[in-house]
Amino acid sequence: MSTELRGNFVGGTWTGASSGRTFDRRNPARIDEVVSVAPDSDATDVAEAIAHVAEHRHEWASIAPDVRADVLSRAATILESTRDTLVEELVREEGKTRAEAMMEVRRTPQNLRYYASEALRTTGETYPTGDGSLVYTQREPVGVVAAITPWNFPLNIPSRKLGPALAAGNGVIFKPSEVTPLLGQRLVEALQEAGVPGGALALVHGHAEVGKAIVSDSRVDAVTFTGSTAVGEAIHGNLPPWVRTQLEMGGKNALVVWSDADLDKAADIVAKGAFGLSGQACTGTSRVVVHESVFNGLLDRVMERAREVVLGDGLEPGVTMGPLANAAQLEKYQTYLEIGRQGATLETPQFGCAPEGGYFVRPAIFSDVDPDSRLAQEEVFAPILGVLTVSSYDEAVEVVNNSSYGLSAGIVTGDMAIARAFSRDVKSGLVKINQATNGMAMNAPFGGMRRSSTQTFKEQAGGSMMQFYTHDKTVYYSS
Ligand code: NAD
Repeated sequence: MSTELRGNFVGGTWTGASSGRTFDRRNPARIDEVVSVAPDSDATDVAEAIAHVAEHRHEWASIAPDVRADVLSRAATILESTRDTLVEELVREEGKTRAEAMMEVRRTPQNLRYYASEALRTTGETYPTGDGSLVYTQREPVGVVAAITPWNFPLNIPSRKLGPALAAGNGVIFKPSEVTPLLGQRLVEALQEAGVPGGALALVHGHAEVGKAIVSDSRVDAVTFTGSTAVGEAIHGNLPPWVRTQLEMGGKNALVVWSDADLDKAADIVAKGAFGLSGQACTGTSRVVVHESVFNGLLDRVMERAREVVLGDGLEPGVTMGPLANAAQLEKYQTYLEIGRQGATLETPQFGCAPEGGYFVRPAIFSDVDPDSRLAQEEVFAPILGVLTVSSYDEAVEVVNNSSYGLSAGIVTGDMAIARAFSRDVKSGLVKINQATNGMAMNAPFGGMRRSSTQTFKEQAGGSMMQFYTHDKTVYYSS
């Protein structure tokens, strides 16, 4: 059963692309099944949407923050009331398992409530002066915010952008991924039904062309983007310096398994990081850096976890790993499988074929991986794991840091001194000790280093997040 989307949300109404064109999104587990049909928008649609938000955003900004907070909380309640439908749609449109989808569907309203409360905490400061005048900072919405998002968390990531942007009183132009248009619509529907006016929020569906038109529009005051490093860097290169920018991008995350590690626990942590979400998490584990003394024990156990994976349509009972999201992802997996075969040892050839009818792939594990090879350096975004062996702590840190990315890194050890040193030495925005590199708290600062992030205004941290969406004006007041 496919859903004809209501369209773009512009000026408070749902409308098709001006060209009349649409595109299909198919279920990655059942490629014959069309899940959603969305407007294939272009620069004309973008210009109209931005014009409306730029003209009417002040109406939303002038609403009292407690009322904006109530609206966001109401949207959270609406999402919760449709939880089961959202889970099924998320599985069918993106390819998660039911359990993975449930986590995202639960988290999204929590995000909205968290940012709702930030609407009331966004305060300025006063400064002492010698002449009796009052000097203070006044926080105001930054203006028109462009939110451009990927497909791998199509509710959670947009809610982390739309939530705080709207809480601060901004107007938002939102472009969901073309891979997950239905979920993008569901979030906007909930916000609309909760009372966010059309002047505060526009949604434009489409491909890269839409994103490019949004970020090159001079009425956009801030760009918050999550996606690949290649696209993020292209956006950054074309933006003028006065457009506030927050880019969260790719990763090549490493997990160290130290010589003292409990290997069963370590293997569980590796498997969760490498195979969870079919390897399609920005913080997923794609490199395991293991002390040589425990290499065999760890490899055997991780292979066992990989063998136990039950591949299939995420709506089927017992399935623990869904398909890759689309044909491009499948092609990437196959390319890196080939790259790996050329320089490293594939430990998992006996794992057999994947089910047919969808973009299913089996986890692949490589050993003898050269730290400088493409397999060890480039983001794959699929369940392909490289195992690298080291013989000392310094070498482990060197291998982990031998990356142009710096999103998440972890270590499994019972040695507090090693863990503390690792958290200090590693060049990574997130450091996980005895935890998988993926998975994170909703209220803790999130963001990478190096080519994983512009490192501007951490996401999720209330204060820093709201700073991104507000201007500080310094006011000098004498009576
Ligand atoms: P992507 O970069 O291909 O696309 C992201 C969004 O940008 C989509 O909406 C896309 O249509 C749009 N876009 C594409 N080209 C554009 C352009 N030239 N200008 C403006 N917008 C453009 O990423 P994806 O395939 O959707 O997502 C996977 C990537 O996202 C991975 O690299 C992953 O690591 C990254 N990611 C990062 C985080 C994080 O928080 N660091 C979280 C999730 C995903």
